[in-house]
Amino acid sequence: MPRALQPQTLQRAITVEGRGLHGNRPCRVTLRPVDQPTGLRFRHTPSGIEVPARADRVGDLSLATTLVQDGIRFGTIEHLLSALMGLEVEHLLIETDGEELPILDGSARPWVEAIQRAGIAQLPGRRRFIKVLRPVEVEAKGKRMRVSPYDGLRLRYTIAFDLKSIGRQSRELSLDPAKYLRELAPARTFCMEQDITAMRAMGLAQGGSLENAVVYAADGPLNDTLRYEDEAVRHKMLDLVGDLALVGAPILGLVEAEAAGHALHVALVKALLADPTAWTWAEAGVERPRRPVFAGLSGAHPIPA
Ligand SMILES: [Zn+2]
Repeated sequence: MPRALQPQTLQRAITVEGRGLHGNRPCRVTLRPVDQPTGLRFRHTPSGIEVPARADRVGDLSLATTLVQDGIRFGTIEHLLSALMGLEVEHLLIETDGEELPILDGSARPWVEAIQRAGIAQLPGRRRFIKVLRPVEVEAKGKRMRVSPYDGLRLRYTIAFDLKSIGRQSRELSLDPAKYLRELAPARTFCMEQDITAMRAMGLAQGGSLENAVVYAADGPLNDTLRYEDEAVRHKMLDLVGDLALVGAPILGLVEAEAAGHALHVALVKALLADPTAWTWAEAGVERPRRPVFAGLSGAHPIPA
């Protein structure tokens, strides 16, 4: 699939329903097309409160990424954001009637299927990117992330768990929609069996089951099958794609992560945006037939509101 040159939204609205992983409450989500390139925005329909999907609005990072606006939570948004960014649908109004998005099967695949059913539509103008100009790093307790210049979006992720059945997993790929669909979208969220009691005691994972998560015991997963041998690191990459949406635009850069998670993903996004010399706006253009190139624009522009 070619990379989009124009900003993209959906052809028509589509609704997805399910229960949240942590709160186990029902939630209905409607993905609504927009007619201008406004970025990704959430609206809580009962209150009318809206929030852009941006790092400065993140309010909670305990095992999921949650936006908070005027006391309203938009929880566990990363799998939907991942599906949208993976398919280059970067302009949409996401309406929700609850405070935690449905977990569905624990991967981004059901969201991808909804997006494909609705169809992708082009908006006028050129697609805009945040192009990384020089490396930015964040580090915390042996976890590390770095973003550096690259012509496209390339991800390199490594995890290392003491639990033998997960162990060390490492993967690297340059992202495009076809690779996203094939390599990342089906990878399900996961946890260790030994952590379930503690999570439940904290009020988390109340809706978790083998239907929506891979649960690793010491000698292997409790689920009958894995979708990939290294499904865990692929899910971390899926989460990363979703959290990178919080930049407010697609990124052109190489993003490396070691033993990271939502908190460090968001810390990297904030560190990048906080340094105006580390990035610039770039626009998709066509200088050679069939291959998009990305030309840097002079000067830093504010993040779109
Ligand atoms: Zn996840």
